[in-house]
Amino acid sequence: MTRCENVWVAAEDASDYAALVAVARDLGACATAVWMGDEQGLDAVRGSGAGAVIHLAGGALVEDGAQVLAQLAAERTPDALLVAPTKRMRLLGACVAARRGACVMSDATSLSVDEEGALRAERMVYGGGAVTVERGVSAFVVAVPCAALLASKAAEAAEAPGAAGDAGASCAVETFAVQPGSSGIRLVERRAREVDAVNLSAARNIVSVGRGFAAEEDLALAYELARAVGAEVGCTRPVAEGSKWMARERYIGVSGAMLTPNLFIAVGVSGQVQHMVGATGAKVVVAVNKDKGAPVFKQADFGIVGDLYDVVPRLVAELER
Ligand SMILES: Cc1cc2nc3c(=O)[nH]c(=O)nc-3n(C[C@H](O)[C@H](O)[C@H](O)COP(=O)(O)OP(=O)(O)OC[C@H]3O[C@@H](n4cnc5c(N)ncnc54)[C@H](O)[C@@H]3O)c2cc1C
Repeated sequence: MTRCENVWVAAEDASDYAALVAVARDLGACATAVWMGDEQGLDAVRGSGAGAVIHLAGGALVEDGAQVLAQLAAERTPDALLVAPTKRMRLLGACVAARRGACVMSDATSLSVDEEGALRAERMVYGGGAVTVERGVSAFVVAVPCAALLASKAAEAAEAPGAAGDAGASCAVETFAVQPGSSGIRLVERRAREVDAVNLSAARNIVSVGRGFAAEEDLALAYELARAVGAEVGCTRPVAEGSKWMARERYIGVSGAMLTPNLFIAVGVSGQVQHMVGATGAKVVVAVNKDKGAPVFKQADFGIVGDLYDVVPRLVAELER
C-alpha cells in the first residue's frame, strides 16, 4: 500500500494536465485535477485523463484559491499535490503547503514512490553538476515536476490517444466558490507587464554582459560589440535582477535562458557555473575579463585578459575595419 494513491494536479494551462496526470499515474495514483480557470478550459481539463475535477471558481487571485484548496486538502487528505512549474502554480503549491505543513519538492526531474510508500524526488543542483534525492516525510506533499519531465510525459500521453478522452467523458466536476479577497489580499488593478520581446534562444551569437561593467551607460560598449558580430545581448543574473540594467528575459543560466549559439562572448563575466551552464551548448566561447584567474577562462575557447573598457572598443574597431 503506497501513500500515493490519491494525487491532485494543478496547472494554469488546460493542455498541461495530460502530462501531470501521466506523472500521477506513474506513481500508481488516481489523479484529481484542480482547475482555477474558466468554464471553457474546464472542458479540456475534463478530457485530460483525470478521474475527477475540482473547479475553484470565482477567485482572481491564486492566494484566494489556495485557501479553499488547503481546506479541501484537510478534509479529503490527498497524498500529494503536483503543480505545473509556472509562477502562479508554484505560488499555489507554496500557499497550500504552508497551510497544511507539507514538504515541498521543487523542480523534480523524476518522481517515484519508495519502498516505505513515501514520495521520492530527484532534482538537479549546482547548475546540473549533481543530483539531490529528496524524500517527502509529511502525510501530504507538494511537488513541482520540472518542465523537462512534463514535456516527456506530454509526448508519451500524445502517443497514446483515446485514453484521455474516454476518462474525460465521465469525469465528475465539483465546483467550489472562491471568495475574492478572502486571503486578505485585494486585487486593485490589472496591468499588462512590459516585457522585453528578445528571444535569446533564437540568436546565433550572444554577447553576455556581467558585473564587470561599472555603469549602465557603459552597456553601449556591449551593444556596439553585438552589432559588430551580429549578436543579441544577454547578461548575468545580477545585471538583470540586481542592478536591473536589463530585463529578466535577458539573463542567461540555470535560472534564466539556456542557449546554443554559434558564438558566446562573455564580457566582464566571472563565469560562475550558474551562468555558464546556459552557454554549454555554445560552439565557441570567448571571454574578456581583467582577472586571469576568473573561472570563465576554464570554459572559454579564446580568452582575452584585459580591461573591457580597453579591449571591447579595440575589438569593435578590428571587426569593423
Ligand atoms: C541558486 C542560484 C541560481 C543562480 N542562477 C543564475 C543564473 O541563472 N544566471 C546567472 O548569471 N547567475 C546566476 N546565479 C548567480 C551566479 O552564481 C553568479 O553570482 C553570477 O553569475 C555572477 O555574475 P557576474 O559574473 O556578472 O558578476 P561577478 O561574479 O561579480 O563577476 C564580475 C567579473 O567581472 C570582472 N571585471 C570587473 N571589472 C572588469 C573590467 N573593467 N574589465 C574586465 N573584467 C572586469 C571581474 O574580474 C569578475 O570576474 C545564481 C546563483 C544562485 C545561488
